[in-house]
Amino acid sequence: MAAYSSMDKNTLNEEYNKLSQAYEAYKAQGLSLNMARGKPCSQQLDISNDILNALTPETDFKAPDCPDCRNYGNLDGIDAAKKLFGDIFGVDKKNVFVGGNSSLNMMFDTIACMMELGANGENPWNQQPDRKFLCPVPGYDRHFGVTEYFGFEMITVPMTPDGPDMDVVEKLVSEDASIKGIWCVPKYSNPTGITFSDETVRRFAALKPAAKDFRIMWDNAYIIHDINDTPDKLLNIFDEAAKYGNEDLIFEFCSTSKITFPGAGVAAMAASENNLKLVKRRYNFQTIGYDKTNMLRHVAYFKDLDGVLDHMQKQRAILEPRFKMVTDTLEKELSGLDVACWTNPNGGYFVSVDVLEGCAKRVVSLCKEAGVVLTGAGATYPYGKDPKDSNIRIAPTYPPVNELEKAMDIFCICVKLAAIEKICK
Ligand code: PLP
Repeated sequence: MAAYSSMDKNTLNEEYNKLSQAYEAYKAQGLSLNMARGKPCSQQLDISNDILNALTPETDFKAPDCPDCRNYGNLDGIDAAKKLFGDIFGVDKKNVFVGGNSSLNMMFDTIACMMELGANGENPWNQQPDRKFLCPVPGYDRHFGVTEYFGFEMITVPMTPDGPDMDVVEKLVSEDASIKGIWCVPKYSNPTGITFSDETVRRFAALKPAAKDFRIMWDNAYIIHDINDTPDKLLNIFDEAAKYGNEDLIFEFCSTSKITFPGAGVAAMAASENNLKLVKRRYNFQTIGYDKTNMLRHVAYFKDLDGVLDHMQKQRAILEPRFKMVTDTLEKELSGLDVACWTNPNGGYFVSVDVLEGCAKRVVSLCKEAGVVLTGAGATYPYGKDPKDSNIRIAPTYPPVNELEKAMDIFCICVKLAAIEKICK
């Protein structure tokens, strides 16, 4: 079909009426479908069930560095868990802090620590009232929520297919000492699914921020979450930063939330010795230690990095067809119409769709009326405000495949309806 913008009004009206009929027919079904949040589906959770048998009452709960993992102690985790996460991150275990059940929680704590303690001889951030944080957009709403909570002014940076626009990042960061950090999801970014190019990683590693206490929040949530035969490769930022003596710039995070169980997995952080020393000043007061039985359980279940990667192949078998269905439907229903563009990621949890400017809210509300819940329009921008009202995040992992199929059909109908409404206005 030709681009909608090239069609005359009558043809567009006919198309609108046809689409409206299909839309009303779906609406009459009283559906309740959800493509809103990036949650694993129950099949994905099931493949990790055996981890619950990895520890039994007969287990020896000792670890070489811990006489009894059921008891208090080991603030930064047991050695075997540090080694496992070190291998996932590609850093030495001495640079790993293994925490609780959530990497987002560790990010929150890291910002809280910088707020209260300060770094590199600078005042704590809470004593620097006009503090700012860079937010590549579209991005992860919960990141923006953390920096909003801590009173940062959030400055958006456009995402490109290679990562955040580094010309903008370098300029802002080198000129403005009130900019204290940047959020990054470097692999299979939330929501665009893109992976930062080698050049982007090198430019991050070589940053020369005006603020001595500037930090990169390198949230590698999807570090090993490939879904097809052509996975993206991400350069190791710590290796690159070492070339410039810049290791203190980076806090890296990941977790097993989307490997085993969200909320019942293990999270970890990789950081320089200086940064670990800094965060431990806070963690020391905050806890006596995290859940070492869960660390032990994960190590016993996976054994090593190869064990984790084999497990991710099972995740992939469930996710690949879902992502393919989403992108195939977008291609089949929308390509050539000039009403949307979308990403086609090799991993992660999301597909990002840009509809015509001013149409995202309308699409989300049309979908809702027809029983399809999407992430709120604007959620991928700080303060929930997408200036172009065009980005929509699709999360294909959670609904059953037959529901996803219907939900995508409805989504495409709504994108087309909203586009015609805009063009004919
Ligand atoms: N970081 C990103 C980019 C995410 O997309 C998510 C969850 O969707 C999280 C962090 C949350 O991770 P966790 O469960 O380890 O807190």
